[in-house]
Amino acid sequence: MGYIKIIVIFIFLLVSLQAKEMQKVSIQLDWLHQFQFAGYYMAKEKGFFKKENLDVQIKEFDFNINLLEEVVNQKSEYAIGKSSLIIDRLEGKKIVLLSAIYQNSPMVLISLKKSNINFPADLKNKKVMLTPDARSAASINSMIISQGLQLDDINFIGHSFKLEDLINGTTDAMGCYLSNEPYLLNQKNIDFTIHNPSEYGFDFYGGLLFTSEKELKNNPIRVRKMYRATLKGWEYAFNNIEETAKLIFDKYNTQNKTLDSLIFEGKILKKLAKFDEGLLGNIDHKKIEEMKRVYLLLALGKNDPNFKIEDLVYNPNNINYSNEEEEYLKNNTITLLTNDSFPPFTMKTVKGIEGIEIDYWNLINKKLKINNIHLKKVTTSDASLNKIQKDKNFIKYAYSQKDFTNNTKTTNTITTIKIGLATLNDKSYLSDISELNNKKIAIAKFSILYKTFSKKYPNIDFITVKNLKEGFSLLNKEKVYGLVGKVPALSYHISNKELTNVKIVGTFDEKFKMKILVNATNETLLKLLNEAISIISVEEKSKIISKYYSVIYQTKTDYSWIYKIVIPLVIIIIFIVVSNRKLNIEVKKRKEIETQLHKVANIDSLTNTYNRRKIETLFNSELLRGKRYNREFSIIFFDIDDFKLINDQLGHAIGDEVLIKLSSIIKNNTRSIDYFGRWGGEEFIILLPETNKEKAGNVAHVLKNKINTTDFNIDRTVTCSFGVAQFEETDSEDSLLTRADNAMYYVKRNGKNDVKVA
Ligand code: GH3
Ligand code: MG
Ligand code: MG
Repeated sequence: MGYIKIIVIFIFLLVSLQAKEMQKVSIQLDWLHQFQFAGYYMAKEKGFFKKENLDVQIKEFDFNINLLEEVVNQKSEYAIGKSSLIIDRLEGKKIVLLSAIYQNSPMVLISLKKSNINFPADLKNKKVMLTPDARSAASINSMIISQGLQLDDINFIGHSFKLEDLINGTTDAMGCYLSNEPYLLNQKNIDFTIHNPSEYGFDFYGGLLFTSEKELKNNPIRVRKMYRATLKGWEYAFNNIEETAKLIFDKYNTQNKTLDSLIFEGKILKKLAKFDEGLLGNIDHKKIEEMKRVYLLLALGKNDPNFKIEDLVYNPNNINYSNEEEEYLKNNTITLLTNDSFPPFTMKTVKGIEGIEIDYWNLINKKLKINNIHLKKVTTSDASLNKIQKDKNFIKYAYSQKDFTNNTKTTNTITTIKIGLATLNDKSYLSDISELNNKKIAIAKFSILYKTFSKKYPNIDFITVKNLKEGFSLLNKEKVYGLVGKVPALSYHISNKELTNVKIVGTFDEKFKMKILVNATNETLLKLLNEAISIISVEEKSKIISKYYSVIYQTKTDYSWIYKIVIPLVIIIIFIVVSNRKLNIEVKKRKEIETQLHKVANIDSLTNTYNRRKIETLFNSELLRGKRYNREFSIIFFDIDDFKLINDQLGHAIGDEVLIKLSSIIKNNTRSIDYFGRWGGEEFIILLPETNKEKAGNVAHVLKNKINTTDFNIDRTVTCSFGVAQFEETDSEDSLLTRADNAMYYVKRNGKNDVKVA
């Protein structure tokens, strides 16, 4: 009996210990189980939550709950929401956005092909089924407004969430998910048209993971863990779509979806997540700021003067301290023990002690927001080790097993340091270590390297030297074949001493792991340092290394969001400000705004082809692609012949119809990878990726013949003159265009209705 009691108590203790370790939290989904939430299932399934000591419950959407209240009142610590969470924050709800999975919202408008609603402008006086919630419809409403309609022009009806209502005509268009309904319509062989706000310049985020301000304040480390684990889950899900779909099919299929439809959903969502572009989870402050402006302009949310984007968007690069950590940092001074004779790791310069170690230490201090940086010079490694064992606030860098004694612990790896071989210039590159057999190789006597290497490579004839300097000197005198050392040290020495006759010919598999050694009793400091290390970015690392390698890295800045967001918004602002000021805007003013809106969207509203702005963006990216990957790329530039006469003799309206008909001929006779757009007036351009000018010339001939044999229902034949040019390595947008333009004018001068390849 006694024994049983003890065993029961023991088991109870074990269980409760376990429970104390794992933290229970939940994520409230904003819809029914489907691929839309795949990353969360995979974080659970693949143990990413468990690794962070999180026991996560994933709660399916329930129409009876108020998702926002759930989070604010901490019934669920985390939840998924839409961009409209920005409005909630503006209305004073203390929420924090952690990551945005969908860089473009999957929300689109769909109409059936047979209803002939080809463009948003065709929705005039039609029925549109949308959630009554103006918040979630904001991007769709903006698209409609930008295409010259007013919301009053549309007959909005409440959403039934039944695709049948679109199929049987209860509604003319329906708010849908790009990743769901298109699949179902394809299955039923029903042709449809997608009206996607992002194609018209309005792209909002979707699938936002968020939490409450309280959770972030009280459990900052848990929030970081959640952030990390969920992104890992998403990475896994998008890298393994079929496996993930199968798991959802087996375990979470409350909607009875087919496996095939889940795979389809995954593929579409991966694109919307811009996963391959490295944007997984990214939240851009500028994009949030612009969305906020749209909401305010649509009279959604209050303009809270205290609104700070930093409060709304979680910064994974900020450490949110626990109270214990905050106390520790306030009351303690951390001292880095260092040396000054290991260039480029630590070295004496006119400015004091500098080097890779010091740069990383400064970076860690910046991350921890400490500004009283303490350095203490210690000459030997043993002396510093001694100090760390005695004082819990002393630390030093560690590169090997040797430092791991009983009373110390090391942080996670800060960076790895490669080990390389330097030889004289006339030696060839090292393709295999066995090439060094029986060769004399210098190595520093007291380095850990020597111990490991002499054991691992018994066939190499190692010659021990005092330091790298002595090694380089032996190398110079050709007393040794090569010299082994840490790559940064070798390369620093070579460039600093201008040893033009020496080069690094290869690296070994072994690497040093650069860590920090801490007194074993100071768990708080260890945790803090690990947090700081975990948020050192790749860019920060390469910045430090490049400083000592003298290699210049260039980063590309992406300004495309300006065109996508800012410009359309400015126009919307103008539109709304104007329409608010006067309810009855004069027709003239309205026309003016509509013209501006048309200019701003990506689609030319007369011909429904890409407009000049969009085609220029595409042109630019094709040009870059051509340059970077050396791809073939051609353009066709063409202009309608004697169009002025058509206009003057038959009227402007007929002229417009010719433009429309001609555009549809081109669209129907070009490949899906080609881009066709209106350059202006009656001038058009076609971009043909992966095409040389001969092939592009053939395409132009086909188009020329198609046009001059088409009956335009007017009293004459319509013809065009075509100029073709192929991208060359040194081309700019201008130079390529000029060649095509000149070729086109050559045709104009020589009788028109022909093709000239430049
Ligand atoms: P060429 O063969 O040399 O090209 O002669 P052209 O008459 O076509 O010459 P030009 O390029 O000078 O004339 C273009 C005309 O196209 C002038 C302009 O009124 C008309 N145009 C430009 N945009 C539109 C439009 O959107 N609709 C209509 N109907 N006409 C337009
Ligand atoms: Mg013309
Ligand atoms: Mg012209």
